[in-house]
Amino acid sequence: MSALLEDSLTFVALLTAIYAATVLVYFILGYGITWLNDRNPERRIQKGRRGEKRKAIEIRQSIASILVTCTSVAIGLFAQHQGWTFFSPWDFSWWTAVPLFLLCMVLFDAWFYFAHRLLHTKLFYKYHLLHHRSVAPSVWSNDSIGLVDTALSQGYYAVITFLVPFPPIILLAHRLFDQINGTFGHAGFEYFASRTARYPWPMLCTTYHDQHHAEFKYNYANYFSFWDRVMGTIAPNYDRRVEVLEGEAPALNLRKAPSVTGAAETTAAD
Ligand SMILES: [Zn+2]
Ligand SMILES: [Zn+2]
Repeated sequence: MSALLEDSLTFVALLTAIYAATVLVYFILGYGITWLNDRNPERRIQKGRRGEKRKAIEIRQSIASILVTCTSVAIGLFAQHQGWTFFSPWDFSWWTAVPLFLLCMVLFDAWFYFAHRLLHTKLFYKYHLLHHRSVAPSVWSNDSIGLVDTALSQGYYAVITFLVPFPPIILLAHRLFDQINGTFGHAGFEYFASRTARYPWPMLCTTYHDQHHAEFKYNYANYFSFWDRVMGTIAPNYDRRVEVLEGEAPALNLRKAPSVTGAAETTAAD
């Protein structure tokens, strides 16, 4: 077999494995968090809207956009494997795993923030519009993104391996974490309102990105509120909203979902 054919097959196998795993995780998270949401209806952020009506259309778009995300990851890993990057990847060790993972998060967050700001400019918004059709995002919305938009916001993996020699396992762990974080971030139900999700902490909760979808011109970042605070794009009422949510957070319900018609009685009986 020629070297080129062998390399192509390696790339396709890598991409197929990453894509199959990501699609599986997308559905596990989607149905898993829906199960949780059904049991905690009072945690809904946009009470008057039902974003889950767009489920079918969003799943269809996600299946396509996840392929773009996974292609970016596969390009990054394949480039490292072939020795095309400036440095060969560091060996994995448990001592450096946490700081490297955090570094990967911080760099991704910066990449995402500025790519996202770019996508909101006049010139690029046409690529980002599709994602904003979800005004009340749901567990299915995280990957309901146009393909050019996805290539920009998820192109990180294909580029970062050339600049920082992350061990492949760190990049894959980060991708998995971002899939989980993004699905909760679009879930439309708040489970993470806490002191650490507001000023002066840099972390955030689901309300953060939910506000980006509902109000459009604030909260562009992915993991941390840092860039939005520095660049003056944080929603002025975000910190206050989290504080209020913290105060009124109901106990987490993991038991049977209340029926739609008898919701009030079931809650009272419980
Ligand atoms: Zn946006
Ligand atoms: Zn979004």
